[in-house]
Amino acid sequence: MTPLRIAGGRVYDPANGIDGDVRDICIDDGRIVADVPSSAPRLDARGMVVMPGGVDMHCHVASGSVNVARRLLPEDHAQHPALAPVLDDLATIPRSGSAGLVPTTFTTGYRYAGLGYTTVFDAAVAPLMARSAHAQLDDTPIVDGGFFVLLGNDDYLLRQIDAGERERAREYAAWLLGASGAYAIKAVNPGGIELWKRGSRERTELDQALGSSRVTPRAILETLADSAIALGLPHPLHIHCNNLGLPDNASTTLATMAALEGRRAHFTHLQFHSYGTSGDGAWRSAAREVIEYVNAHPSLSGDVGQVMLGPAVTLTADAPVEYLLHRSSGRKWANVDIELETGCGVVPHEYKERNAVAALQWAIGLELFLLSSDPWRVVLSTDHPNGGSFMSYPALIRLLMDRAHRDEQIKRVEPKLLAGSTLADGIAREYTLGEIAIITRAGPAKLLGLRDKGHLGVGADADVTVYVPDADAEKMFATTRYVVKGGTLVVEEGQLRRAPAGRRLHVRPSFDAAVTADIEHHFNQYSTVRFANYPVGDLRDASVPLAPSGAR
Ligand SMILES: [Zn+2]
Repeated sequence: MTPLRIAGGRVYDPANGIDGDVRDICIDDGRIVADVPSSAPRLDARGMVVMPGGVDMHCHVASGSVNVARRLLPEDHAQHPALAPVLDDLATIPRSGSAGLVPTTFTTGYRYAGLGYTTVFDAAVAPLMARSAHAQLDDTPIVDGGFFVLLGNDDYLLRQIDAGERERAREYAAWLLGASGAYAIKAVNPGGIELWKRGSRERTELDQALGSSRVTPRAILETLADSAIALGLPHPLHIHCNNLGLPDNASTTLATMAALEGRRAHFTHLQFHSYGTSGDGAWRSAAREVIEYVNAHPSLSGDVGQVMLGPAVTLTADAPVEYLLHRSSGRKWANVDIELETGCGVVPHEYKERNAVAALQWAIGLELFLLSSDPWRVVLSTDHPNGGSFMSYPALIRLLMDRAHRDEQIKRVEPKLLAGSTLADGIAREYTLGEIAIITRAGPAKLLGLRDKGHLGVGADADVTVYVPDADAEKMFATTRYVVKGGTLVVEEGQLRRAPAGRRLHVRPSFDAAVTADIEHHFNQYSTVRFANYPVGDLRDASVPLAPSGAR
Protein backbone atom coordinates (compact mmCIF):
# COMPACT_ATOMS: atom_id res chain seq x y z
CA MET A 1 0.00 0.00 0.00
CA THR A 2 1.50 3.30 -1.07
CA PRO A 3 1.42 6.42 1.06
CA LEU A 4 -1.15 9.05 0.14
CA ARG A 5 -1.85 12.67 0.99
CA ILE A 6 -5.42 14.02 0.81
CA ALA A 7 -4.54 17.67 0.45
CA GLY A 8 -6.29 20.85 1.40
CA GLY A 9 -9.81 19.63 2.16
CA ARG A 10 -12.15 20.97 4.82
CA VAL A 11 -11.86 18.27 7.46
CA TYR A 12 -14.71 17.22 9.77
CA ASP A 13 -13.24 14.93 12.43
CA PRO A 14 -15.36 15.53 15.53
CA ALA A 15 -13.62 12.91 17.66
CA ASN A 16 -10.49 15.05 17.41
CA GLY A 17 -12.28 18.38 17.73
CA ILE A 18 -11.77 19.31 14.06
CA ASP A 19 -14.75 21.12 12.56
CA GLY A 20 -14.14 22.20 8.99
CA ASP A 21 -10.46 23.20 9.33
CA VAL A 22 -8.45 23.08 6.09
CA ARG A 23 -5.71 20.49 6.47
CA ASP A 24 -4.05 17.47 4.91
CA ILE A 25 -4.84 13.88 5.85
CA CYS A 26 -1.87 11.56 5.44
CA ILE A 27 -2.07 7.82 5.00
CA ASP A 28 0.51 5.06 5.05
CA ASP A 29 0.20 1.29 5.30
CA GLY A 30 -3.56 1.42 5.82
CA ARG A 31 -3.47 3.89 8.70
CA ILE A 32 -3.65 7.61 9.29
CA VAL A 33 -0.15 8.99 9.89
CA ALA A 34 1.15 12.43 10.90
CA ASP A 35 2.92 13.05 7.60
CA VAL A 36 4.13 11.43 4.39
CA PRO A 37 7.01 12.51 2.12
CA SER A 38 6.16 15.41 -0.17
CA SER A 39 6.77 13.06 -3.09
CA ALA A 40 3.86 10.81 -2.01
CA PRO A 41 0.85 10.62 -4.35
CA ARG A 42 -1.74 13.26 -3.51
CA LEU A 43 -5.44 13.78 -3.98
CA ASP A 44 -6.44 17.38 -4.44
CA ALA A 45 -9.32 17.92 -1.99
CA ARG A 46 -9.32 21.72 -2.08
CA GLY A 47 -12.87 23.01 -1.75
CA MET A 48 -14.09 19.55 -0.74
CA VAL A 49 -15.34 18.08 2.53
CA VAL A 50 -13.30 15.32 4.17
CA MET A 51 -14.77 12.99 6.79
CA PRO A 52 -13.93 9.61 8.28
CA GLY A 53 -15.61 6.71 6.48
CA GLY A 54 -19.24 6.19 7.48
CA VAL A 55 -20.14 3.63 10.16
CA ASP A 56 -23.57 1.97 10.00
CA MET A 57 -24.18 0.39 13.38
CA HIS A 58 -27.61 -1.05 12.66
CA CYS A 59 -28.77 -2.49 9.36
CA HIS A 60 -29.72 -5.85 7.91
CA VAL A 61 -27.46 -6.95 5.09
CA ALA A 62 -26.12 -10.41 5.93
CA SER A 63 -28.38 -12.71 7.91
CA GLY A 64 -30.73 -15.60 7.51
CA SER A 65 -33.66 -13.19 7.47
CA VAL A 66 -32.02 -11.08 4.75
CA ASN A 67 -31.72 -14.19 2.59
CA VAL A 68 -35.37 -15.05 3.26
CA ALA A 69 -36.25 -11.51 2.12
CA ARG A 70 -34.14 -11.91 -1.02
CA ARG A 71 -36.06 -15.08 -1.87
CA LEU A 72 -39.43 -13.57 -1.05
CA LEU A 73 -38.96 -10.55 -3.34
CA PRO A 74 -37.86 -11.62 -6.83
CA GLU A 75 -39.76 -8.62 -8.23
CA ASP A 76 -37.50 -6.26 -6.26
CA HIS A 77 -34.49 -7.88 -7.93
CA ALA A 78 -36.05 -7.85 -11.39
CA GLN A 79 -36.76 -4.13 -11.15
CA HIS A 80 -33.27 -3.20 -9.99
CA PRO A 81 -30.55 -4.99 -11.94
CA ALA A 82 -27.08 -3.81 -10.92
CA LEU A 83 -24.30 -4.00 -13.47
CA ALA A 84 -20.82 -5.04 -12.43
CA PRO A 85 -18.57 -2.04 -11.81
CA VAL A 86 -15.55 -1.47 -14.02
CA LEU A 87 -12.65 -2.03 -11.65
CA ASP A 88 -9.03 -1.01 -12.13
CA ASP A 89 -7.86 -3.81 -9.92
CA LEU A 90 -7.39 -6.81 -12.22
CA ALA A 91 -7.08 -9.20 -9.28
CA THR A 92 -10.70 -8.61 -8.25
CA ILE A 93 -13.57 -9.97 -10.31
CA PRO A 94 -16.31 -7.32 -10.54
CA ARG A 95 -19.73 -8.76 -9.85
CA SER A 96 -23.18 -7.92 -11.10
CA GLY A 97 -26.23 -8.38 -8.89
CA SER A 98 -29.40 -6.61 -8.02
CA ALA A 99 -30.01 -3.52 -5.96
CA GLY A 100 -33.43 -2.44 -4.70
CA LEU A 101 -34.45 -2.80 -1.09
CA VAL A 102 -32.55 -5.99 -0.30
CA PRO A 103 -29.48 -5.88 -2.52
CA THR A 104 -27.31 -8.86 -3.28
CA THR A 105 -24.09 -9.15 -1.29
CA PHE A 106 -21.56 -7.68 -3.72
CA THR A 107 -23.88 -4.84 -4.69
CA THR A 108 -24.39 -4.08 -0.98
CA GLY A 109 -20.66 -3.55 -0.52
CA TYR A 110 -20.30 -1.46 -3.67
CA ARG A 111 -23.25 0.77 -2.83
CA TYR A 112 -22.24 1.40 0.77
CA ALA A 113 -18.75 2.35 -0.39
CA GLY A 114 -20.25 4.60 -3.05
CA LEU A 115 -22.02 6.51 -0.26
CA GLY A 116 -18.78 6.80 1.71
CA TYR A 117 -19.57 4.08 4.26
CA THR A 118 -16.71 1.78 5.18
CA THR A 119 -18.00 -0.09 8.26
CA VAL A 120 -21.33 -1.91 8.48
CA PHE A 121 -22.92 -4.14 11.12
CA ASP A 122 -25.82 -6.51 10.61
CA ALA A 123 -27.86 -6.09 13.76
CA ALA A 124 -29.58 -9.46 14.09
CA VAL A 125 -28.17 -12.88 13.33
CA ALA A 126 -29.64 -16.02 14.87
CA PRO A 127 -26.82 -18.22 16.19
CA LEU A 128 -27.86 -21.05 13.87
CA MET A 129 -27.52 -18.66 10.92
CA ALA A 130 -24.04 -17.45 11.86
CA ARG A 131 -22.26 -19.53 9.21
CA SER A 132 -24.54 -18.14 6.53
CA ALA A 133 -24.01 -14.60 7.83
CA HIS A 134 -20.23 -14.95 7.65
CA ALA A 135 -20.50 -16.35 4.13
CA GLN A 136 -22.60 -13.34 3.13
CA LEU A 137 -20.16 -10.92 4.76
CA ASP A 138 -17.30 -12.67 2.95
CA ASP A 139 -19.08 -11.69 -0.28
CA THR A 140 -19.80 -8.10 0.80
CA PRO A 141 -16.66 -6.32 -0.38
CA ILE A 142 -14.92 -3.18 0.83
CA VAL A 143 -16.74 -2.60 4.11
CA ASP A 144 -15.42 -3.88 7.42
CA GLY A 145 -18.07 -5.27 9.68
CA GLY A 146 -19.74 -8.03 11.54
CA PHE A 147 -22.97 -8.77 13.31
CA PHE A 148 -24.80 -8.88 16.60
CA VAL A 149 -25.99 -12.31 17.73
CA LEU A 150 -29.57 -12.76 18.89
CA LEU A 151 -30.19 -13.75 22.49
CA GLY A 152 -33.22 -13.14 24.65
CA ASN A 153 -35.65 -15.83 23.52
CA ASP A 154 -33.12 -18.61 23.48
CA ASP A 155 -34.16 -21.79 25.27
CA TYR A 156 -30.84 -22.44 27.00
CA LEU A 157 -30.59 -18.87 28.26
CA LEU A 158 -34.16 -18.88 29.61
CA ARG A 159 -33.47 -22.15 31.43
CA GLN A 160 -30.43 -20.64 33.15
CA ILE A 161 -32.43 -17.63 34.30
CA ASP A 162 -35.18 -19.93 35.54
CA ALA A 163 -32.60 -21.89 37.54
CA GLY A 164 -31.19 -18.70 39.06
CA GLU A 165 -27.93 -19.37 37.18
CA ARG A 166 -27.25 -15.89 35.85
CA GLU A 167 -23.50 -16.47 35.97
CA ARG A 168 -23.83 -19.53 33.80
CA ALA A 169 -26.05 -17.48 31.47
CA ARG A 170 -23.17 -15.01 31.20
CA GLU A 171 -20.69 -17.80 30.43
CA TYR A 172 -23.11 -19.08 27.81
CA ALA A 173 -23.30 -15.63 26.22
CA ALA A 174 -19.49 -15.52 26.17
CA TRP A 175 -19.32 -18.95 24.57
CA LEU A 176 -22.00 -18.03 22.02
CA LEU A 177 -20.31 -14.78 20.97
CA GLY A 178 -17.12 -16.67 20.21
CA ALA A 179 -18.87 -19.69 18.67
CA SER A 180 -20.89 -17.54 16.29
CA GLY A 181 -18.13 -15.00 15.56
CA ALA A 182 -20.36 -12.13 16.67
CA TYR A 183 -19.47 -8.62 17.83
CA ALA A 184 -22.24 -7.83 20.32
CA ILE A 185 -25.37 -9.22 21.97
CA LYS A 186 -28.73 -8.25 20.51
CA ALA A 187 -32.00 -8.72 22.39
CA VAL A 188 -35.11 -8.56 20.22
CA ASN A 189 -38.43 -8.38 22.03
CA PRO A 190 -36.87 -10.26 24.99
CA GLY A 191 -39.21 -13.03 26.08
CA GLY A 192 -41.94 -11.76 23.76
CA ILE A 193 -41.03 -13.95 20.81
CA GLU A 194 -41.00 -17.02 23.02
CA LEU A 195 -44.38 -16.03 24.50
CA TRP A 196 -45.75 -15.60 20.98
CA LYS A 197 -44.46 -19.02 19.99
CA ARG A 198 -46.34 -20.39 22.99
CA GLY A 199 -49.57 -18.84 21.72
CA SER A 200 -49.76 -15.44 23.38
CA ARG A 201 -51.23 -12.75 21.12
CA GLU A 202 -51.20 -9.99 23.78
CA ARG A 203 -48.76 -7.18 24.52
CA THR A 204 -45.69 -8.24 26.45
CA GLU A 205 -45.19 -6.72 29.88
CA LEU A 206 -41.80 -6.33 31.52
CA ASP A 207 -42.77 -8.50 34.49
CA GLN A 208 -44.77 -11.06 32.58
CA ALA A 209 -43.77 -14.62 33.50
CA LEU A 210 -42.58 -17.06 30.85
CA GLY A 211 -43.80 -20.18 32.60
CA SER A 212 -41.77 -19.53 35.71
CA SER A 213 -42.09 -16.22 37.54
CA ARG A 214 -38.28 -16.02 37.59
CA VAL A 215 -38.18 -15.69 33.80
CA THR A 216 -39.49 -12.31 32.69
CA PRO A 217 -38.45 -9.79 30.03
CA ARG A 218 -36.97 -7.72 32.88
CA ALA A 219 -34.85 -10.65 34.10
CA ILE A 220 -33.67 -11.38 30.55
CA LEU A 221 -32.69 -7.75 29.99
CA GLU A 222 -30.84 -7.50 33.31
CA THR A 223 -28.98 -10.76 32.67
CA LEU A 224 -27.86 -9.80 29.18
CA ALA A 225 -27.01 -6.16 29.95
CA ASP A 226 -24.95 -7.27 32.96
CA SER A 227 -23.27 -9.99 30.87
CA ALA A 228 -22.19 -7.51 28.17
CA ILE A 229 -20.70 -5.25 30.83
CA ALA A 230 -19.01 -8.05 32.81
CA LEU A 231 -17.50 -9.55 29.66
CA GLY A 232 -16.02 -6.19 28.72
CA LEU A 233 -17.70 -6.19 25.32
CA PRO A 234 -16.91 -3.11 23.23
CA HIS A 235 -20.64 -2.52 22.62
CA PRO A 236 -23.27 -2.82 25.37
CA LEU A 237 -26.46 -4.84 25.07
CA HIS A 238 -28.24 -3.76 21.87
CA ILE A 239 -31.94 -3.69 22.68
CA HIS A 240 -35.02 -3.89 20.48
CA CYS A 241 -37.72 -3.37 23.11
CA ASN A 242 -40.94 -5.28 23.58
CA ASN A 243 -44.12 -4.16 21.80
CA LEU A 244 -42.46 -2.69 18.70
CA GLY A 245 -44.91 -0.80 16.51
CA LEU A 246 -47.84 -0.90 18.94
CA PRO A 247 -49.67 2.24 20.07
CA ASP A 248 -48.63 3.37 23.55
CA ASN A 249 -45.41 1.37 23.44
CA ALA A 250 -43.42 4.37 24.69
CA SER A 251 -44.45 3.30 28.19
CA THR A 252 -42.71 -0.05 27.62
CA THR A 253 -39.64 1.71 26.21
CA LEU A 254 -39.37 4.07 29.18
CA ALA A 255 -39.93 1.23 31.66
CA THR A 256 -37.16 -0.77 29.94
CA MET A 257 -34.77 2.16 30.17
CA ALA A 258 -35.63 2.56 33.84
CA ALA A 259 -35.16 -1.18 34.44
CA LEU A 260 -31.55 -0.86 33.26
CA GLU A 261 -30.90 2.29 35.27
CA GLY A 262 -27.22 3.10 35.56
CA ARG A 263 -26.10 0.38 33.14
CA ARG A 264 -24.74 1.07 29.68
CA ALA A 265 -27.34 0.02 27.12
CA HIS A 266 -28.12 0.81 23.49
CA PHE A 267 -31.75 1.18 22.40
CA THR A 268 -32.16 0.59 18.72
CA HIS A 269 -34.63 2.06 16.21
CA LEU A 270 -36.15 4.28 18.90
CA GLN A 271 -38.70 5.60 16.42
CA PHE A 272 -40.52 2.25 16.35
CA HIS A 273 -40.78 2.40 20.15
CA SER A 274 -41.96 5.99 20.70
CA TYR A 275 -45.71 5.82 20.18
CA GLY A 276 -48.31 7.14 22.58
CA THR A 277 -52.06 7.38 22.50
CA SER A 278 -54.27 10.39 23.03
CA GLY A 279 -57.47 10.53 25.09
CA ASP A 280 -59.59 9.09 22.28
CA GLY A 281 -57.19 6.16 21.83
CA ALA A 282 -55.66 7.49 18.60
CA TRP A 283 -51.92 7.17 17.99
CA ARG A 284 -49.77 10.15 18.88
CA SER A 285 -46.11 10.97 19.08
CA ALA A 286 -44.34 10.18 22.33
CA ALA A 287 -40.96 11.14 20.87
CA ARG A 288 -40.47 13.98 23.32
CA GLU A 289 -40.91 11.78 26.41
CA VAL A 290 -38.52 9.14 25.07
CA ILE A 291 -35.78 11.48 23.86
CA GLU A 292 -35.89 13.61 27.00
CA TYR A 293 -35.30 10.45 29.02
CA VAL A 294 -32.33 9.53 26.82
CA ASN A 295 -31.00 13.10 27.00
CA ALA A 296 -31.06 12.95 30.79
CA HIS A 297 -29.37 9.51 31.10
CA PRO A 298 -25.79 9.51 29.77
CA SER A 299 -25.42 5.72 30.13
CA LEU A 300 -28.06 5.22 27.41
CA SER A 301 -27.63 5.51 23.67
CA GLY A 302 -29.83 4.90 20.68
CA ASP A 303 -30.19 4.94 16.94
CA VAL A 304 -33.29 6.43 15.42
CA GLY A 305 -34.61 3.93 12.86
CA GLN A 306 -36.03 6.73 10.71
CA VAL A 307 -38.93 5.84 8.42
CA MET A 308 -38.43 7.19 4.92
CA LEU A 309 -41.61 7.67 2.92
CA GLY A 310 -41.72 5.10 0.14
CA PRO A 311 -41.19 1.35 -0.18
CA ALA A 312 -39.45 -0.72 2.49
CA VAL A 313 -39.08 -4.31 3.58
CA THR A 314 -39.69 -5.17 7.19
CA LEU A 315 -37.57 -8.07 8.33
CA THR A 316 -37.03 -8.91 11.95
CA ALA A 317 -36.58 -11.62 14.52
CA ASP A 318 -39.70 -10.09 16.07
CA ALA A 319 -42.04 -12.56 14.37
CA PRO A 320 -45.15 -11.35 16.24
CA VAL A 321 -44.69 -7.89 14.71
CA GLU A 322 -44.53 -9.39 11.24
CA TYR A 323 -47.58 -11.51 11.93
CA LEU A 324 -49.59 -8.39 12.86
CA LEU A 325 -48.25 -6.45 9.87
CA HIS A 326 -49.09 -9.27 7.49
CA ARG A 327 -52.59 -9.53 8.97
CA SER A 328 -53.25 -5.79 8.74
CA SER A 329 -51.70 -5.16 5.31
CA GLY A 330 -52.51 -8.41 3.53
CA ARG A 331 -49.03 -8.33 1.97
CA LYS A 332 -47.19 -11.58 1.37
CA TRP A 333 -44.93 -12.75 4.17
CA ALA A 334 -42.52 -15.41 5.25
CA ASN A 335 -41.89 -16.51 8.78
CA VAL A 336 -39.19 -18.84 9.98
CA ASP A 337 -39.07 -20.38 13.40
CA ILE A 338 -35.40 -20.78 14.16
CA GLU A 339 -36.01 -23.68 16.48
CA LEU A 340 -34.80 -23.05 20.02
CA GLU A 341 -33.39 -19.62 19.37
CA THR A 342 -35.67 -16.99 17.95
CA GLY A 343 -38.16 -16.14 15.23
CA CYS A 344 -37.76 -14.39 11.92
CA GLY A 345 -40.32 -12.76 9.66
CA VAL A 346 -40.41 -10.73 6.46
CA VAL A 347 -43.23 -8.51 5.12
CA PRO A 348 -42.81 -5.97 2.30
CA HIS A 349 -44.23 -2.60 3.24
CA GLU A 350 -44.81 0.89 1.95
CA TYR A 351 -44.79 4.06 4.05
CA LYS A 352 -47.27 6.20 2.12
CA GLU A 353 -47.17 9.95 2.72
CA ARG A 354 -50.98 10.08 2.81
CA ASN A 355 -51.17 7.28 5.38
CA ALA A 356 -51.64 8.79 8.85
CA VAL A 357 -49.60 6.21 10.77
CA ALA A 358 -46.73 6.31 8.26
CA ALA A 359 -46.70 10.11 8.43
CA LEU A 360 -46.61 9.90 12.23
CA GLN A 361 -43.72 7.42 12.17
CA TRP A 362 -41.80 9.67 9.78
CA ALA A 363 -42.42 12.67 12.02
CA ILE A 364 -41.42 10.82 15.21
CA GLY A 365 -38.06 9.86 13.77
CA LEU A 366 -37.33 13.45 12.84
CA GLU A 367 -38.45 14.64 16.29
CA LEU A 368 -36.02 12.23 17.94
CA PHE A 369 -33.16 13.57 15.84
CA LEU A 370 -34.11 17.21 16.28
CA LEU A 371 -34.80 17.04 20.04
CA SER A 372 -31.71 14.96 20.86
CA SER A 373 -29.26 16.99 22.90
CA ASP A 374 -26.28 14.69 22.32
CA PRO A 375 -25.53 13.56 18.75
CA TRP A 376 -22.84 11.23 20.13
CA ARG A 377 -25.54 9.11 21.76
CA VAL A 378 -28.40 9.26 19.23
CA VAL A 379 -27.17 8.27 15.80
CA LEU A 380 -28.49 7.80 12.30
CA SER A 381 -30.19 4.63 11.09
CA THR A 382 -33.21 3.66 9.04
CA ASP A 383 -32.95 0.09 10.33
CA HIS A 384 -32.31 -0.73 6.65
CA PRO A 385 -34.45 -2.01 5.00
CA ASN A 386 -37.16 -1.77 7.71
CA GLY A 387 -37.64 2.00 7.69
CA GLY A 388 -36.16 2.44 4.22
CA SER A 389 -33.04 1.56 2.27
CA PHE A 390 -29.55 2.68 3.32
CA MET A 391 -29.54 4.36 -0.07
CA SER A 392 -31.96 6.92 1.41
CA TYR A 393 -29.43 8.19 3.99
CA PRO A 394 -28.58 11.24 1.83
CA ALA A 395 -32.27 12.20 1.70
CA LEU A 396 -32.48 11.80 5.47
CA ILE A 397 -29.39 13.96 5.98
CA ARG A 398 -31.05 16.70 3.90
CA LEU A 399 -34.16 16.54 6.12
CA LEU A 400 -31.92 17.12 9.14
CA MET A 401 -29.80 19.89 7.61
CA ASP A 402 -32.39 21.90 5.70
CA ARG A 403 -35.38 23.25 7.60
CA ALA A 404 -37.04 24.85 4.56
CA HIS A 405 -36.96 21.52 2.74
CA ARG A 406 -38.24 19.73 5.84
CA ASP A 407 -41.12 22.15 6.28
CA GLU A 408 -42.10 21.59 2.62
CA GLN A 409 -42.16 17.83 3.23
CA ILE A 410 -44.29 18.25 6.36
CA LYS A 411 -46.96 19.94 4.23
CA ARG A 412 -47.14 16.89 1.96
CA VAL A 413 -47.83 14.25 4.60
CA GLU A 414 -51.16 13.28 6.12
CA PRO A 415 -51.56 15.59 9.17
CA LYS A 416 -54.29 13.62 10.96
CA LEU A 417 -52.10 12.18 13.74
CA LEU A 418 -49.54 14.96 13.90
CA ALA A 419 -51.45 17.13 16.36
CA GLY A 420 -49.29 17.55 19.46
CA SER A 421 -46.14 16.59 17.58
CA THR A 422 -43.32 19.06 18.14
CA LEU A 423 -42.37 18.64 14.50
CA ALA A 424 -45.73 19.95 13.34
CA ASP A 425 -45.27 22.96 15.63
CA GLY A 426 -41.96 23.68 13.90
CA ILE A 427 -38.44 22.86 15.03
CA ALA A 428 -35.84 25.32 13.83
CA ARG A 429 -32.81 23.11 14.38
CA GLU A 430 -30.63 22.32 11.40
CA TYR A 431 -27.81 19.79 11.77
CA THR A 432 -24.36 21.13 10.91
CA LEU A 433 -21.83 19.18 8.86
CA GLY A 434 -19.94 18.51 12.08
CA GLU A 435 -23.06 17.02 13.66
CA ILE A 436 -23.71 14.90 10.55
CA ALA A 437 -20.14 13.62 10.87
CA ILE A 438 -20.97 12.63 14.47
CA ILE A 439 -24.25 10.80 13.80
CA THR A 440 -22.94 8.94 10.73
CA ARG A 441 -19.37 8.02 11.74
CA ALA A 442 -17.79 9.33 14.97
CA GLY A 443 -20.82 8.59 17.17
CA PRO A 444 -21.58 5.05 15.97
CA ALA A 445 -17.87 4.16 16.07
CA LYS A 446 -17.68 5.35 19.68
CA LEU A 447 -20.87 3.52 20.68
CA LEU A 448 -19.49 0.36 19.08
CA GLY A 449 -16.21 0.76 20.93
CA LEU A 450 -14.24 0.86 17.67
CA ARG A 451 -11.18 2.85 18.65
CA ASP A 452 -9.65 2.91 15.16
CA LYS A 453 -12.81 3.91 13.31
CA GLY A 454 -14.91 7.03 12.96
CA HIS A 455 -11.98 9.43 13.30
CA LEU A 456 -8.90 10.64 11.44
CA GLY A 457 -6.35 10.81 14.26
CA VAL A 458 -2.91 9.26 13.87
CA GLY A 459 -3.19 5.48 14.09
CA ALA A 460 -6.82 5.28 12.97
CA ASP A 461 -7.80 2.99 10.10
CA ALA A 462 -7.38 4.93 6.87
CA ASP A 463 -11.10 5.01 6.05
CA VAL A 464 -11.75 8.43 4.54
CA THR A 465 -14.53 9.93 2.44
CA VAL A 466 -14.32 13.07 0.31
CA TYR A 467 -17.56 14.79 -0.71
CA VAL A 468 -18.13 17.74 -3.02
CA PRO A 469 -20.09 20.37 -1.07
CA ASP A 470 -23.49 21.28 -2.41
CA ALA A 471 -26.31 23.49 -1.10
CA ASP A 472 -28.51 20.42 -1.58
CA ALA A 473 -27.26 18.08 1.15
CA GLU A 474 -28.97 15.09 -0.46
CA LYS A 475 -26.98 15.63 -3.64
CA MET A 476 -23.80 16.16 -1.66
CA PHE A 477 -24.07 12.93 0.34
CA ALA A 478 -25.42 10.77 -2.50
CA THR A 479 -22.10 10.74 -4.32
CA THR A 480 -18.49 10.69 -3.24
CA ARG A 481 -15.48 12.10 -5.04
CA TYR A 482 -12.99 9.84 -3.26
CA VAL A 483 -13.30 7.02 -0.77
CA VAL A 484 -10.26 5.44 0.85
CA LYS A 485 -10.80 2.15 2.68
CA GLY A 486 -7.99 0.80 4.83
CA GLY A 487 -5.54 2.81 2.75
CA THR A 488 -6.87 1.62 -0.63
CA LEU A 489 -8.42 4.20 -2.93
CA VAL A 490 -11.74 2.51 -3.75
CA VAL A 491 -13.69 5.46 -5.23
CA GLU A 492 -11.72 7.69 -7.57
CA GLU A 493 -13.21 10.74 -9.31
CA GLY A 494 -16.65 9.48 -8.33
CA GLN A 495 -16.16 5.98 -9.78
CA LEU A 496 -15.80 2.74 -7.84
CA ARG A 497 -12.39 1.45 -8.93
CA ARG A 498 -11.27 -1.11 -6.37
CA ALA A 499 -13.16 -3.54 -4.18
CA PRO A 500 -10.86 -5.17 -1.64
CA ALA A 501 -12.28 -7.61 0.90
CA GLY A 502 -13.47 -6.08 4.15
CA ARG A 503 -12.27 -7.09 7.59
CA ARG A 504 -14.43 -9.09 10.01
CA LEU A 505 -14.97 -7.48 13.40
CA HIS A 506 -15.85 -9.94 16.15
CA VAL A 507 -15.13 -10.70 19.80
CA ARG A 508 -13.98 -13.83 21.57
CA PRO A 509 -14.52 -13.45 25.32
CA SER A 510 -13.05 -16.09 27.58
CA PHE A 511 -15.50 -18.34 29.42
CA ASP A 512 -15.51 -21.07 32.01
CA ALA A 513 -14.86 -24.24 30.00
CA ALA A 514 -17.01 -26.20 32.44
CA VAL A 515 -20.09 -24.57 30.92
CA THR A 516 -19.60 -26.26 27.55
CA ALA A 517 -20.48 -29.73 28.86
CA ASP A 518 -23.84 -28.41 29.99
CA ILE A 519 -24.47 -26.61 26.69
CA GLU A 520 -23.48 -29.74 24.78
CA HIS A 521 -25.90 -31.81 26.84
CA HIS A 522 -28.68 -29.34 26.00
CA PHE A 523 -27.81 -29.55 22.30
CA ASN A 524 -27.87 -33.30 22.35
CA GLN A 525 -31.26 -33.28 24.06
CA TYR A 526 -33.08 -30.68 22.01
CA SER A 527 -31.24 -29.30 18.98
CA THR A 528 -31.25 -30.49 15.39
CA VAL A 529 -27.66 -29.33 15.12
CA ARG A 530 -24.74 -31.27 16.55
CA PHE A 531 -22.77 -29.26 19.04
CA ALA A 532 -19.51 -29.79 17.15
CA ASN A 533 -21.06 -28.37 14.00
CA TYR A 534 -22.23 -25.23 15.71
CA PRO A 535 -19.18 -22.99 16.16
CA VAL A 536 -17.95 -21.18 13.07
CA GLY A 537 -14.26 -21.56 12.34
CA ASP A 538 -11.59 -19.95 10.25
CA LEU A 539 -12.69 -16.34 10.58
CA ARG A 540 -10.22 -14.46 8.49
CA ASP A 541 -9.44 -11.71 10.98
CA ALA A 542 -8.40 -11.69 14.61
CA SER A 543 -10.96 -10.77 17.25
CA VAL A 544 -11.30 -7.23 18.58
CA PRO A 545 -9.72 -6.77 22.04
CA LEU A 546 -12.09 -6.55 25.00
CA ALA A 547 -12.07 -3.88 27.68
CA PRO A 548 -9.85 -4.62 30.71
CA SER A 549 -12.98 -5.36 32.77
CA GLY A 550 -13.40 -8.39 30.50
CA ALA A 551 -10.15 -9.93 31.77
CA ARG A 552 -11.70 -11.83 34.60
ZN1 LIG B 1 -33.05 -3.87 12.91
